[in-house]
Amino acid sequence: MSDIIKLLPDAVANQIAAGEVIQRPASAVKELLENAIDAGSDNISLVIKDAGKALIQVNDNGFGMSETDARLSFERHATSKIKSAADLFNINTKGFRGEALASIAAIAQVELKTKVEGNDLGTQIVIEGSKVKEQEVCNCSKGTSFSIKNLFFNVPARRNFLKSNPVEIKHIIEEFQRVALVHAEIAFSMYNNGNEVFNLKKGSFRQRIVGIFGDKTNQKLVPVTESTDIVSIEGFVSKPEFAKKTRGEQYFFVNDRFIKNPYLNHAVQNAFDQLLSKDQFPAYFLKLTIDPSKIDINIHPTKTEIKFEDERAIYAIIRTAVKQALGKHNITPTLDFEQELSFNVPLLKSTDTIKIPTIKVNKDYNPFETKTVAPKVRKQSTENWESLYSSFQKDTTEIIEHNEEKEKQQVISPNWDNDEEEEKQTLIQLHSKYILAQLKSGSLIIDQERAHTRILFEEYIKNLAHGKGSTQQLLFPETIDFTTADAELLNELQVEVKNLGFDFDKMGKSSFVISGVPSELKEPNVKKILEGLLEQFKLNESELKLKKHENLAISMARSASIKSGKKLAEEEMKALVDQLFACEMPYSLPNGKPTIITLNLEDLNQQFDY
Ligand code: ADP
Ligand code: MG
Repeated sequence: MSDIIKLLPDAVANQIAAGEVIQRPASAVKELLENAIDAGSDNISLVIKDAGKALIQVNDNGFGMSETDARLSFERHATSKIKSAADLFNINTKGFRGEALASIAAIAQVELKTKVEGNDLGTQIVIEGSKVKEQEVCNCSKGTSFSIKNLFFNVPARRNFLKSNPVEIKHIIEEFQRVALVHAEIAFSMYNNGNEVFNLKKGSFRQRIVGIFGDKTNQKLVPVTESTDIVSIEGFVSKPEFAKKTRGEQYFFVNDRFIKNPYLNHAVQNAFDQLLSKDQFPAYFLKLTIDPSKIDINIHPTKTEIKFEDERAIYAIIRTAVKQALGKHNITPTLDFEQELSFNVPLLKSTDTIKIPTIKVNKDYNPFETKTVAPKVRKQSTENWESLYSSFQKDTTEIIEHNEEKEKQQVISPNWDNDEEEEKQTLIQLHSKYILAQLKSGSLIIDQERAHTRILFEEYIKNLAHGKGSTQQLLFPETIDFTTADAELLNELQVEVKNLGFDFDKMGKSSFVISGVPSELKEPNVKKILEGLLEQFKLNESELKLKKHENLAISMARSASIKSGKKLAEEEMKALVDQLFACEMPYSLPNGKPTIITLNLEDLNQQFDY
């Protein structure tokens, strides 16, 4: 048999390569935009006609190409960006394969105009299906302009395969956004069939996000910053309340390159876990900077997938950074009780400092009485839930005993003392269920039961992590018989349950003697609480797949929290609010249900049509 292997002609080889690199107009857009960025441009425009099927033009003001380079740029594996294999491990440019222009030229009619700085004349090249049709000097400005006409003109199968114009335009806009987002230092514009789609000025990352996704985006962003030896992170996540039902704006950039990575996506989603349900997706715009030698970009022709040397560590760092950002940052500006912990909040003016609602109630003041009444100091009552917290204990001794009537009066129309320095704050209990707190910029409505559940949950989480919560010994230890399964479970969880504050010993096969309970449980029905705890634990484990500690903490918090329907005194409300805002995640229960809603004053005014 004669030899049958032949080298493919360049044009054919390029067409095959094009199949990988250029799948649709949007792929050509991406390659041309990236080349323009690599050329050091600070102003790039994209002109599209007929969804890129008729024309894709990218104009830049970068360093341009010499006549020789202009011609060479269309050769396969011709690149100015790497010189040796070693350079592959230190890539700082978007491109490096030297394939894009060769691929595009193989399947379209391409016109290039380019001029380097200082030259009077530039070069113009027309190339069609890999064949140079024209090369001459031209009059053009510094920089480069590529016009790609009739994409796939010589590959009808692929041209027919293209989707409708709206679909192809959507892909183009997506690529444009991915590139423009991460290069806020470059001005970008885009025109489609003569209409301006984007006109993005140079600015900050935040300004660029807002420029692309609209003014309303600004208030939705929470900054995320983290710097470690492995990776630096900078960017934004959306506040939980703006999460969407579909994966929307989710962007990871690694060394200024858009990437897709389900694993890291999971890290962000996971950081939101207590704030969002499974079918809600946060937006995020996160720029990671990593030593280029620790990543491999070369695994995918369009370079949207990369390999990390340290993927697990990066996962952990992202998750923590996002969690911290959400926890520390004021989720909405009206809730900024921890000013010093917040990063940079452009929405808040420096004059807008908002304080923790502090209340000074002059309990002696009675508008219907003229004589001064000496304050009656009450003994610490074990019935007062706030005495659960040691930090509150000194306050509780100062609480004035008020009868129902007086309490109601004080709660509904509190009399503030007239200390000029103190900002007046109002806390009002609504329906024995909610607490209305009035701030300068609006109001908060706090769900008392959920708020207390959140407070206890975090307390228990800490106890479980760092050792024992405080225990109150029972005067008469109680023997409880459990079902075999529950006894087994309690046995298994005994270290943790003891860390919650319980004290017990096993007695026989399925009985336990309980000698101590968490001190915040007043006159507890020990059997009910423990059975409830185990029941809830099993349920959470099978349905929510919670971690052991979280599960125990939430189960206990649920049973020990103050309930809706309980009337609260002013001081109790104050303590509750203070404690809530000392929490790491004050805004919701671990299951994502809100503890607080905000009534923004501006929104309120708007609703009344002011
Ligand atoms: P790569 O970007 O991988 O190097 P391309 O085929 O995209 O490969 O481009 C080939 C070469 O053409 C580049 O390495 C660069 O030297 C040159 N080039 C392409 N576009 C531009 C541009 N807009 N400005 C200046 N040079 C360019
Ligand atoms: Mg390129």
